[in-house]
Amino acid sequence: MIVEHFDVLIVGAGLSGIGAAHHLQQAHPGKSFALFEARDAIGGTWDLFRYPGVRSDSDMQTLGYRFRPWTEAKAIADGPSIRSYVRDTARDAGIDAKIRFNHRIERAAWSSADARYTVTARRTDSDETAEVTCGFLFVCSGYYRYDEGFTPPFLGTERFGGRIIHPQFWPEDLDYAGKRVVVIGSGATAITLVPALTDKAEHVTMLQRSPSYVLSIPAEDPIANGLRRALGDRIAYAITRWKNVAVTTLIYQLSRRRPTFVKKLIRKAQVSQLPDGYAVDTHFKPRYQPWDERLCIVPDGDLFRVIRHGKASIVTDRIAGFTETGLELESGAELNADIIVTATGLNLIAFGGMALAVDGREVVLSEAMAYKGLMLGDVPNFAFVVGYTNASWTLKADLVSEYVCRLLAYMDEHGFDQAVPVNHDPSITTRPLLDFAAGYVQRSLDQFPKQGSKAPWRLGQNYAQDLVTLRHGRLDDGTMQFSRVRAATLT
Ligand SMILES: Cc1cc2nc3c(=O)[nH]c(=O)nc-3n(C[C@H](O)[C@H](O)[C@H](O)COP(=O)(O)OP(=O)(O)OC[C@H]3O[C@@H](n4cnc5c(N)ncnc54)[C@H](O)[C@@H]3O)c2cc1C
Repeated sequence: MIVEHFDVLIVGAGLSGIGAAHHLQQAHPGKSFALFEARDAIGGTWDLFRYPGVRSDSDMQTLGYRFRPWTEAKAIADGPSIRSYVRDTARDAGIDAKIRFNHRIERAAWSSADARYTVTARRTDSDETAEVTCGFLFVCSGYYRYDEGFTPPFLGTERFGGRIIHPQFWPEDLDYAGKRVVVIGSGATAITLVPALTDKAEHVTMLQRSPSYVLSIPAEDPIANGLRRALGDRIAYAITRWKNVAVTTLIYQLSRRRPTFVKKLIRKAQVSQLPDGYAVDTHFKPRYQPWDERLCIVPDGDLFRVIRHGKASIVTDRIAGFTETGLELESGAELNADIIVTATGLNLIAFGGMALAVDGREVVLSEAMAYKGLMLGDVPNFAFVVGYTNASWTLKADLVSEYVCRLLAYMDEHGFDQAVPVNHDPSITTRPLLDFAAGYVQRSLDQFPKQGSKAPWRLGQNYAQDLVTLRHGRLDDGTMQFSRVRAATLT
């Protein structure tokens, strides 16, 4: 049987996978490639999530690709616009024709003798398996499970007479007009949903165990839109992208170095948008420092506006259990509801749940060490995208794709068919891949690879630094081992 072979196989057709294909096609028009996508649609996150108001929580000048200007007026964009942006990118570059939909990659096994991966995919529509080979595996599978969201084990859910909804599986037919809705959670999803649901609901209550930092920013960036009118899409986009990188970095660095000052600024901005006498400290004063967890942003202060108008309220308390009519809280209070939305988070998963093996040895992901936050030690010809926790995902995704393209060019130029990072420094210790306090990260970190204590094994979460090392840094850095391993008889 002849097994189909690709020079590069990309896993996932979300924002990162489509971006990766675009970079690859531009830099290596002669290379064969395919994208294997478990679902039947392009867009990943931006196709899956359909809850009312779904939107980005970072600006589209940095969540957009470096190579494709974001031209809409809104910098904080809604889900359908982002989905269209990803789909249009795929269509305009002919990438959509390279996607094998309904193919979930289950396993990839590297053979040094053949310098290729044998990749097994399961068809999600027919349950059949398919096998292909590839010279390089580029995993753009995102970071969370698509088949389930996270819901803590609440007591008495079976007693509740209304509907319980997880935002990851929002029913198309859900009619919340005139209903009392309780949204459990305090993260980006809850904060997005609450104002959106007030358009039809009788009242929306956000029930949180503990508050998050919430900051209002303009939905439209007047500088970006002004520059676009004056200078055109491309130049304006490049300038705005850098402006936003600078502003985000400044806020992040200030938050880490002067947390008390940043807390004061955030509180002052909140007080000015909330009703007089509002219990700001109860509902908006987190127990952690700014940027220990992702800062939640609200476009044009929409959350504060609906609180001001009495359409939504926040309750900070713990759930004792569900009742027939709503929720009983640990304080003894009761919350009546017709619909309860559990915006309680994601379940993380590394590399889309695929198994990896190198020359017959199974790779134990939790024991592997990430190289430059994009490859794994002792795993050849393998790269992955995991975006920043303190800046837009695509800033990192673009850099990883650029790095992979450079690496492939270097290998071609020197006749190498294997590139593998190998750690020679026994003093390097490991630590979790993501230094992030958020519950959903902490719950699953032990299943992810580690980062090392020193470069190039250390993950900086710093775009400017990555720009230098990934776009311009030496490929042959002493850690990356290049070789020609393919047996002479194989082509
Ligand atoms: C509601 C929500 C809002 C967000 N907002 C922002 C934001 O504003 N800014 C930001 O920076 N980040 C945000 N994020 C993070 C977001 O996931 C990334 O920005 C980005 O969309 C990730 O793109 P991706 O292509 O890497 O992953 P995904 O969007 O998760 O796409 C991965 C794709 O890979 C496929 N796949 C997975 N495993 C396999 C497999 N084994 N075989 C085949 N295919 C597979 C999936 O089906 C999916 O299509 C948000 C996340 C969520 C959930």
